[in-house]
Amino acid sequence: MGNEVADKAAKEACKDGAKGFFRTPFPDLQIQAVDKARIRFQAYLNDKALSTSTQYHLLYNPAPSAKPWYYKSALNRSEIVLINRLRSNHYNLNYSLFRKNMVQSPACVCGDPRQDLNHIVFYCPLTRIKARSLVRYLNRAFPSHARNAFLPLAKPSHKLCRLFLSFFKSIGISV
Ligand SMILES: [Zn+2]
Repeated sequence: MGNEVADKAAKEACKDGAKGFFRTPFPDLQIQAVDKARIRFQAYLNDKALSTSTQYHLLYNPAPSAKPWYYKSALNRSEIVLINRLRSNHYNLNYSLFRKNMVQSPACVCGDPRQDLNHIVFYCPLTRIKARSLVRYLNRAFPSHARNAFLPLAKPSHKLCRLFLSFFKSIGISV
């Protein structure tokens, strides 16, 4: 009896096969659809990165993930917002604001022609003294950062996020 049922099922399967029709389980179709959507979206981002968000794409997007970088971290909202703005290269300093036509000049108050993150952390005579703890940590944890504060933001530790936030608070800039 069992053999008859198996034979019948095999014949039915062959009949469907002859028509070129196989029933794919829904969860398999769903996985395929999600994969295709992810590939298409990544191609879209790669294309957009040629004209916008180029720095973000170069530094932080080599292995795209469905989870944000702060997934499962114990960071608070201010830390996440600050690091996101720094990573996206859109923050409340003149070099960034000037690109969006929000200020007249990209220069710093100290006279340097470019007030960006690296300037205020490593070079600005008005702020670098308050960045000492941050710079000390960067030098120790990322000896090859080459005075580029954007590089360590690829996988920022909780301590790095905390130091960045306290630095910006100390200079009175809400990024
Ligand atoms: Zn300056």
